[in-house]
Amino acid sequence: MRTIVLKSPAKLNLILKVVGKRDDGFHELVTLFERINLCDEIRLKNNPTGQIRIFCSHPHVPKGSRNLVYKVAQLLQQDFGLANGVDIAIKKQIPIAAGLAGGSSNAATVLRGLNELWGLKLNRKELIHYAQIIGSDVAFFLYDRSWALGTGRGDRIRQIAIQPKFWHVLVVPCIKMHSKQIFTNLHAPTVSVRNLGLTKIIDGVNILIRHLRRNDLQKAGTHLFNDLEIPILRMRPELARLKSKLRGLRPYGTVFSGSGPAIFALTESEKQAQGFRALLKRYYHQVFVVRTL
Ligand code: ATP
Repeated sequence: MRTIVLKSPAKLNLILKVVGKRDDGFHELVTLFERINLCDEIRLKNNPTGQIRIFCSHPHVPKGSRNLVYKVAQLLQQDFGLANGVDIAIKKQIPIAAGLAGGSSNAATVLRGLNELWGLKLNRKELIHYAQIIGSDVAFFLYDRSWALGTGRGDRIRQIAIQPKFWHVLVVPCIKMHSKQIFTNLHAPTVSVRNLGLTKIIDGVNILIRHLRRNDLQKAGTHLFNDLEIPILRMRPELARLKSKLRGLRPYGTVFSGSGPAIFALTESEKQAQGFRALLKRYYHQVFVVRTL
């Protein structure tokens, strides 16, 4: 029986601005996504009994209907009236509930994979429709581009062309942080829109994009920003030490990704990132050297 094997990459947010709160309870965001080479591996195989089965050795990955990949398969089964099920094996490398969107990436990968395995012939627009039902970060992973600007809940995607590839050192403290908690802790004064209009925010992102395109790491590093940093540090004050430790290494810039606790630094080379990793490994268990994918 045919097996499809796919990579499911993580993302970083180089800028994350919270623009306001929406009527549906979600926040309105402006964010610059970067796809990185820290990947899960997903294997899909038809299951003629109609069951959706998830196999994953990681103890914290839900194996049933709470897994986003289950939701994707179930949604497609229902909408297309399919009798076929699927076995989904996930080899987890992306730390969970870290702000790296591993679950969302898995969901997008399975959406694309089942489109092929089940011959659904969904076009890009239809895939985006399903991605938006599943979660805010899913749509970004439907594209093969390394970079995108996310607006709305982060689910309205504009692809961005940036040629250079960048190296980062990425630290993931062994704390799980759920984005819901962080957004609940985001009080009005931290919302950027109080001081800046949307156009100004987009201008700020465009400045960062320009520096990245020119490979001007020094300038790019000064534009990394995350509005969620305040609620992240409010919930976990001990993470301030990690941030200052990273800063003390003098990279080009450092910022939390998404709702944390993953934090990364922009480095000048792989060698520098490896050097930082060696130092940070003394204090933190999960330290990765990653690159734009
Ligand atoms: P979020 O911003 O949604 O919290 P995240 O990037 O910080 O996302 P994820 O790794 O996506 O974190 O995991 C968030 C939660 O989603 C986990 O606690 C887990 O219970 C659940 N989850 C559902 N499906 C998956 C999946 N395929 N892989 C990992 N976690 C999943």
